Amino acid sequence: FLLVLEGPEGVGKTTQVQALVARLQRGDAPVHAFREPGGTPLGDEIRALVLSQQHMAVAPRAEALLFMAARAQLVVHLQALLAEGAIVILDRFFLSTYAYQIVGRGLPEQEVRTANALAVGGLRPDLTVLLAFEDAAIARARMLARGGLDRMEQESADFHARVTDAFLAAADPTWQHQHPEVGPVARIDADGPPDVVTGRILAALETRWPE
Ligand code: C5P
Ligand code: MG
Repeated sequence: FLLVLEGPEGVGKTTQVQALVARLQRGDAPVHAFREPGGTPLGDEIRALVLSQQHMAVAPRAEALLFMAARAQLVVHLQALLAEGAIVILDRFFLSTYAYQIVGRGLPEQEVRTANALAVGGLRPDLTVLLAFEDAAIARARMLARGGLDRMEQESADFHARVTDAFLAAADPTWQHQHPEVGPVARIDADGPPDVVTGRILAALETRWPE
């Protein structure tokens, strides 16, 4: 089972991935979690290259292709784990590409989706949990409270607004129909104590498990 957590900066994706691993490990299936970009030695090097670049500019198309290379490497590993019956939880996947590279950076949608298809080779999430606040300002305040948006701090408020809107668009069934590579999406309210949010995600998951 492939579960993806998505959403803009500061909604608590990483915290929820950790909580879900702890909860789901009580079951019989092995549980693995990875973050994107990253999740493999090659992917982590690409992540460091792109996200900590102070010394070089990374063009949006170059960034997109580097993230796709990291994804392609991770997917090989995921396919093996999933074939063994594992539950895999991802901190970001294609929906982040849609939000940041396509809508945020304005890259041509069909071309990026074609590159993504090459990277994922048909692997589709069984469920994408879209974590979102009613009020985007909460997410930004949370990010700043935990020490800033690092590289994304440099991006304009307009960039962040477009990215957030792009994530929210994915809650629409029409959007989902037009983007079958994303699979089913469940929008979950990210507001409240972490364990309450975890409970909401687990409730959404229960309705999706294969028999
Ligand atoms: O959430 P996480 O810390 O893993 O994100 C790392 C950074 O990479 C964030 O600043 C995020 O905005 C950026 N990112 C991106 N495009 C993606 C995935 C992540 O710009 N497809
Ligand atoms: Mg995170």
